[in-house]
Amino acid sequence: MTHTSTATHAAFPLTIHRHWRAAAEAKGFGILQRVKDRYHLLLSCHSCRRTHASKIFVLMNSQPQCPHCIEARWRDDAAAVGLDWVGRDPENRHYGFYIAGCGHRLRRQFEMVKRAAEGVCDVRCELCQQHKEQEEASAQGWELIGPDPEGGPNYRLYRHQACGHEQRIARANMQTGRFGCGNCGDNWPAAPSHLYAMQFRLASGLRLVKLGFSRNPDSRLRHQLLKHHDLDAQILQTVPMATGQLALQTEKRLHTRLKTAFPDSIAPPDLYAGSINVRSEIYFADVTAEILRMLDEIATDGAA
Ligand SMILES: [Zn+2]
Ligand SMILES: [Zn+2]
Ligand SMILES: [Zn+2]
Repeated sequence: MTHTSTATHAAFPLTIHRHWRAAAEAKGFGILQRVKDRYHLLLSCHSCRRTHASKIFVLMNSQPQCPHCIEARWRDDAAAVGLDWVGRDPENRHYGFYIAGCGHRLRRQFEMVKRAAEGVCDVRCELCQQHKEQEEASAQGWELIGPDPEGGPNYRLYRHQACGHEQRIARANMQTGRFGCGNCGDNWPAAPSHLYAMQFRLASGLRLVKLGFSRNPDSRLRHQLLKHHDLDAQILQTVPMATGQLALQTEKRLHTRLKTAFPDSIAPPDLYAGSINVRSEIYFADVTAEILRMLDEIATDGAA
Protein backbone atom coordinates (compact mmCIF):
# COMPACT_ATOMS: atom_id res chain seq x y z
CA MET A 1 0.00 0.00 0.00
CA THR A 2 1.68 3.18 -1.19
CA HIS A 3 1.28 6.56 0.37
CA THR A 4 -0.46 7.86 -2.76
CA SER A 5 -3.08 5.12 -2.95
CA THR A 6 -4.04 5.60 0.73
CA ALA A 7 -4.29 9.34 0.27
CA THR A 8 -6.80 8.99 -2.54
CA HIS A 9 -9.18 7.13 -0.16
CA ALA A 10 -8.97 9.61 2.72
CA ALA A 11 -10.95 12.83 2.92
CA PHE A 12 -7.92 14.58 4.42
CA PRO A 13 -4.13 14.32 4.02
CA LEU A 14 -2.31 11.69 6.07
CA THR A 15 1.17 13.14 6.02
CA ILE A 16 2.74 13.70 9.44
CA HIS A 17 5.42 16.36 9.21
CA ARG A 18 8.69 15.91 11.04
CA HIS A 19 8.45 19.24 12.90
CA TRP A 20 5.06 18.14 14.28
CA ARG A 21 6.66 15.00 15.70
CA ALA A 22 9.42 17.08 17.25
CA ALA A 23 6.89 19.45 18.85
CA ALA A 24 4.78 16.54 20.13
CA GLU A 25 7.77 14.76 21.69
CA ALA A 26 8.87 17.98 23.38
CA LYS A 27 5.39 18.30 24.90
CA GLY A 28 5.07 14.71 26.12
CA PHE A 29 3.17 13.07 23.26
CA GLY A 30 3.68 10.81 20.28
CA ILE A 31 1.72 11.26 17.05
CA LEU A 32 -0.16 8.13 15.88
CA GLN A 33 -2.01 9.44 12.84
CA ARG A 34 -4.11 12.24 11.43
CA VAL A 35 -7.80 11.92 12.30
CA LYS A 36 -11.22 13.52 11.72
CA ASP A 37 -10.18 16.20 9.23
CA ARG A 38 -7.10 18.06 8.06
CA TYR A 39 -6.80 19.92 11.39
CA HIS A 40 -6.52 17.01 13.85
CA LEU A 41 -3.89 14.54 15.05
CA LEU A 42 -4.31 11.50 17.29
CA LEU A 43 -1.78 11.93 20.12
CA SER A 44 -0.54 9.27 22.50
CA CYS A 45 0.26 10.51 26.01
CA HIS A 46 3.71 9.53 27.31
CA SER A 47 2.43 9.65 30.93
CA CYS A 48 -0.66 7.47 30.70
CA ARG A 49 -0.20 5.83 27.25
CA ARG A 50 -3.76 6.73 26.28
CA THR A 51 -4.78 8.66 23.19
CA HIS A 52 -6.73 11.77 22.40
CA ALA A 53 -7.40 13.88 19.30
CA SER A 54 -5.74 17.28 19.34
CA LYS A 55 -5.83 20.16 16.90
CA ILE A 56 -2.54 20.57 15.07
CA PHE A 57 -2.79 24.26 15.90
CA VAL A 58 -2.94 23.47 19.63
CA LEU A 59 0.04 21.12 19.41
CA MET A 60 2.14 23.68 17.59
CA ASN A 61 1.13 26.76 19.58
CA SER A 62 0.50 25.59 23.14
CA GLN A 63 0.68 22.62 25.48
CA PRO A 64 -1.92 19.93 24.64
CA GLN A 65 -3.64 18.59 27.77
CA CYS A 66 -4.23 14.87 28.01
CA PRO A 67 -7.91 14.50 29.12
CA HIS A 68 -7.16 11.15 30.76
CA CYS A 69 -4.35 12.62 32.88
CA ILE A 70 -6.63 15.53 33.85
CA GLU A 71 -9.37 13.14 34.92
CA ALA A 72 -6.83 11.09 36.88
CA ARG A 73 -5.87 14.29 38.78
CA TRP A 74 -9.54 14.99 39.56
CA ARG A 75 -9.92 11.43 40.77
CA ASP A 76 -6.79 11.76 42.95
CA ASP A 77 -7.98 15.08 44.41
CA ALA A 78 -11.33 13.45 45.20
CA ALA A 79 -9.70 10.44 46.87
CA ALA A 80 -7.52 12.76 48.98
CA VAL A 81 -10.64 14.27 50.58
CA GLY A 82 -12.57 11.02 50.86
CA LEU A 83 -14.83 11.44 47.82
CA ASP A 84 -15.45 8.91 45.08
CA TRP A 85 -15.16 10.28 41.58
CA VAL A 86 -18.31 9.80 39.49
CA GLY A 87 -17.71 11.88 36.37
CA ARG A 88 -17.79 15.30 34.81
CA ASP A 89 -20.87 17.48 34.84
CA PRO A 90 -21.92 17.60 31.18
CA GLU A 91 -23.60 20.95 31.85
CA ASN A 92 -20.53 22.76 33.16
CA ARG A 93 -16.92 22.00 32.34
CA HIS A 94 -15.71 23.30 35.71
CA TYR A 95 -17.81 20.83 37.72
CA GLY A 96 -17.84 17.13 38.46
CA PHE A 97 -19.97 14.70 40.45
CA TYR A 98 -18.71 12.84 43.51
CA ILE A 99 -20.06 10.43 46.11
CA ALA A 100 -19.33 11.53 49.68
CA GLY A 101 -18.54 9.16 52.54
CA CYS A 102 -22.16 9.51 53.71
CA GLY A 103 -23.38 8.15 50.35
CA HIS A 104 -24.81 11.46 49.11
CA ARG A 105 -23.98 12.61 45.62
CA LEU A 106 -22.25 16.01 45.51
CA ARG A 107 -21.66 18.40 42.63
CA ARG A 108 -18.44 20.31 43.12
CA GLN A 109 -16.12 22.60 41.23
CA PHE A 110 -12.85 20.80 40.37
CA GLU A 111 -10.94 23.76 41.74
CA MET A 112 -12.71 23.47 45.12
CA VAL A 113 -11.93 19.78 45.42
CA LYS A 114 -8.32 20.52 44.51
CA ARG A 115 -8.15 23.21 47.20
CA ALA A 116 -9.74 20.81 49.68
CA ALA A 117 -7.13 18.21 48.76
CA GLU A 118 -4.50 20.85 49.55
CA GLY A 119 -6.19 21.48 52.90
CA VAL A 120 -7.35 25.01 52.04
CA CYS A 121 -11.08 24.37 52.47
CA ASP A 122 -13.42 21.44 53.09
CA VAL A 123 -16.08 19.67 51.04
CA ARG A 124 -18.76 18.82 53.55
CA CYS A 125 -22.08 17.42 52.37
CA GLU A 126 -24.74 20.14 52.68
CA LEU A 127 -27.55 17.59 53.04
CA CYS A 128 -25.87 15.97 56.04
CA GLN A 129 -24.94 19.36 57.43
CA GLN A 130 -28.52 20.56 57.19
CA HIS A 131 -29.78 17.33 58.73
CA LYS A 132 -27.33 17.71 61.61
CA GLU A 133 -28.38 21.31 62.26
CA GLN A 134 -32.05 20.32 62.07
CA GLU A 135 -31.42 17.66 64.72
CA GLU A 136 -29.61 20.14 66.97
CA ALA A 137 -32.56 22.51 66.72
CA SER A 138 -35.11 19.78 67.24
CA ALA A 139 -33.35 18.64 70.42
CA GLN A 140 -34.01 22.14 71.83
CA GLY A 141 -37.60 22.27 70.61
CA TRP A 142 -36.86 24.49 67.62
CA GLU A 143 -37.05 24.03 63.89
CA LEU A 144 -34.33 25.19 61.52
CA ILE A 145 -35.92 27.40 58.86
CA GLY A 146 -32.86 28.50 56.93
CA PRO A 147 -29.85 30.79 56.78
CA ASP A 148 -29.68 34.04 58.74
CA PRO A 149 -31.85 36.62 56.93
CA GLU A 150 -29.23 39.20 57.95
CA GLY A 151 -26.48 37.14 56.34
CA GLY A 152 -24.49 36.26 59.48
CA PRO A 153 -22.48 33.11 58.81
CA ASN A 154 -22.80 31.91 62.42
CA TYR A 155 -26.53 32.59 62.74
CA ARG A 156 -29.57 30.72 61.43
CA LEU A 157 -33.29 31.45 61.40
CA TYR A 158 -35.25 29.10 63.67
CA ARG A 159 -38.88 28.65 64.68
CA HIS A 160 -39.89 27.82 68.20
CA GLN A 161 -42.10 24.72 68.06
CA ALA A 162 -43.87 25.61 71.29
CA CYS A 163 -45.08 29.05 70.20
CA GLY A 164 -44.32 29.42 66.49
CA HIS A 165 -42.05 32.41 67.07
CA GLU A 166 -39.24 32.86 64.52
CA GLN A 167 -35.90 34.10 65.71
CA ARG A 168 -32.25 34.48 64.62
CA ILE A 169 -30.07 32.40 66.92
CA ALA A 170 -26.33 31.70 66.78
CA ARG A 171 -25.81 28.05 65.91
CA ALA A 172 -23.37 27.65 68.81
CA ASN A 173 -26.11 28.81 71.20
CA MET A 174 -28.60 26.41 69.65
CA GLN A 175 -26.12 23.59 70.27
CA THR A 176 -25.77 24.46 73.94
CA GLY A 177 -29.30 25.72 74.59
CA ARG A 178 -27.99 29.05 75.91
CA PHE A 179 -30.71 31.31 74.58
CA GLY A 180 -34.36 32.13 75.24
CA CYS A 181 -37.41 32.51 73.06
CA GLY A 182 -38.16 36.19 72.37
CA ASN A 183 -41.87 35.42 72.52
CA CYS A 184 -42.49 32.98 75.36
CA GLY A 185 -39.45 33.75 77.47
CA ASP A 186 -36.57 31.85 78.89
CA ASN A 187 -38.42 29.46 81.11
CA TRP A 188 -40.70 27.56 78.73
CA PRO A 189 -38.90 24.22 79.38
CA ALA A 190 -39.78 24.51 83.06
CA ALA A 191 -43.19 26.14 82.73
CA PRO A 192 -46.43 24.08 82.56
CA SER A 193 -47.58 23.25 79.08
CA HIS A 194 -50.18 21.30 77.08
CA LEU A 195 -50.31 18.72 74.37
CA TYR A 196 -53.12 19.43 71.94
CA ALA A 197 -54.93 18.07 68.90
CA MET A 198 -56.40 20.61 66.49
CA GLN A 199 -58.59 20.11 63.47
CA PHE A 200 -58.54 22.29 60.37
CA ARG A 201 -60.90 22.36 57.46
CA LEU A 202 -59.36 24.03 54.41
CA ALA A 203 -61.34 25.98 51.84
CA SER A 204 -61.09 22.93 49.56
CA GLY A 205 -63.00 20.91 52.18
CA LEU A 206 -59.91 18.88 53.09
CA ARG A 207 -59.77 18.05 56.80
CA LEU A 208 -56.40 17.92 58.57
CA VAL A 209 -55.33 17.31 62.14
CA LYS A 210 -52.34 18.73 64.01
CA LEU A 211 -50.72 17.34 67.10
CA GLY A 212 -48.54 19.78 69.02
CA PHE A 213 -47.74 21.34 72.35
CA SER A 214 -48.04 24.84 73.68
CA ARG A 215 -48.27 26.75 76.92
CA ASN A 216 -51.50 28.18 75.59
CA PRO A 217 -53.06 26.12 72.78
CA ASP A 218 -55.94 28.51 72.26
CA SER A 219 -53.68 31.49 71.73
CA ARG A 220 -51.42 29.34 69.55
CA LEU A 221 -54.39 28.50 67.35
CA ARG A 222 -55.88 31.99 67.17
CA HIS A 223 -52.74 34.09 66.89
CA GLN A 224 -50.04 31.98 65.31
CA LEU A 225 -51.29 29.03 63.31
CA LEU A 226 -54.02 30.51 61.16
CA LYS A 227 -53.03 32.51 58.13
CA HIS A 228 -56.66 33.57 57.57
CA HIS A 229 -59.05 34.10 60.44
CA ASP A 230 -61.98 32.67 58.53
CA LEU A 231 -60.32 29.25 58.29
CA ASP A 232 -62.41 26.59 60.01
CA ALA A 233 -60.28 25.40 62.93
CA GLN A 234 -60.91 24.01 66.40
CA ILE A 235 -59.10 22.47 69.32
CA LEU A 236 -60.25 18.86 69.74
CA GLN A 237 -58.45 18.01 72.94
CA THR A 238 -55.74 19.27 75.30
CA VAL A 239 -53.76 17.42 77.95
CA PRO A 240 -51.93 19.44 80.62
CA MET A 241 -48.23 18.62 80.99
CA ALA A 242 -46.07 19.46 84.01
CA THR A 243 -43.36 21.17 81.96
CA GLY A 244 -42.65 22.36 78.43
CA GLN A 245 -39.69 20.02 78.28
CA LEU A 246 -41.88 17.03 79.09
CA ALA A 247 -44.50 18.20 76.57
CA LEU A 248 -41.82 18.48 73.90
CA GLN A 249 -40.43 15.00 74.56
CA THR A 250 -43.88 13.43 74.64
CA GLU A 251 -44.98 15.21 71.47
CA LYS A 252 -41.88 13.97 69.63
CA ARG A 253 -42.51 10.43 70.74
CA LEU A 254 -46.12 10.57 69.54
CA HIS A 255 -45.07 11.94 66.14
CA THR A 256 -42.59 9.12 65.75
CA ARG A 257 -45.30 6.58 66.54
CA LEU A 258 -47.75 8.19 64.13
CA LYS A 259 -45.24 8.49 61.31
CA THR A 260 -44.21 4.87 61.71
CA ALA A 261 -47.74 3.49 61.95
CA PHE A 262 -49.42 5.80 59.41
CA PRO A 263 -46.78 6.98 56.94
CA ASP A 264 -49.47 7.60 54.30
CA SER A 265 -51.35 9.95 56.60
CA ILE A 266 -48.63 12.60 56.80
CA ALA A 267 -50.07 15.54 54.87
CA PRO A 268 -47.71 17.06 52.29
CA PRO A 269 -46.88 20.64 53.42
CA ASP A 270 -47.82 22.21 50.09
CA LEU A 271 -51.43 21.21 50.78
CA TYR A 272 -51.65 23.56 53.76
CA ALA A 273 -48.72 25.97 53.41
CA GLY A 274 -51.07 28.78 52.32
CA SER A 275 -53.47 28.29 55.21
CA ILE A 276 -51.61 27.12 58.30
CA ASN A 277 -48.39 28.55 59.70
CA VAL A 278 -46.45 25.33 60.22
CA ARG A 279 -44.16 23.33 58.05
CA SER A 280 -44.72 19.75 59.17
CA GLU A 281 -46.47 17.42 61.58
CA ILE A 282 -49.90 17.82 60.09
CA TYR A 283 -51.86 14.69 59.25
CA PHE A 284 -54.89 13.75 57.22
CA ALA A 285 -58.05 13.52 59.33
CA ASP A 286 -58.11 9.72 59.19
CA VAL A 287 -55.63 9.54 62.10
CA THR A 288 -57.69 11.88 64.31
CA ALA A 289 -59.13 9.01 66.33
CA GLU A 290 -55.65 7.56 66.90
CA ILE A 291 -54.29 10.94 68.03
CA LEU A 292 -57.19 11.41 70.46
CA ARG A 293 -56.65 7.88 71.75
CA MET A 294 -52.95 8.57 72.39
CA LEU A 295 -53.78 11.83 74.19
CA ASP A 296 -56.37 10.00 76.32
CA GLU A 297 -53.75 7.43 77.22
CA ILE A 298 -51.36 10.16 78.35
CA ALA A 299 -54.07 12.00 80.29
CA THR A 300 -54.91 8.74 82.09
CA ASP A 301 -51.45 7.26 82.67
CA GLY A 302 -49.50 10.49 83.01
CA ALA A 303 -46.71 11.18 80.53
CA ALA A 304 -45.69 7.57 80.18
ZN1 LIG B 1 -2.27 11.12 29.84
ZN1 LIG C 1 -24.35 13.57 53.10
ZN1 LIG D 1 -41.46 30.59 72.11
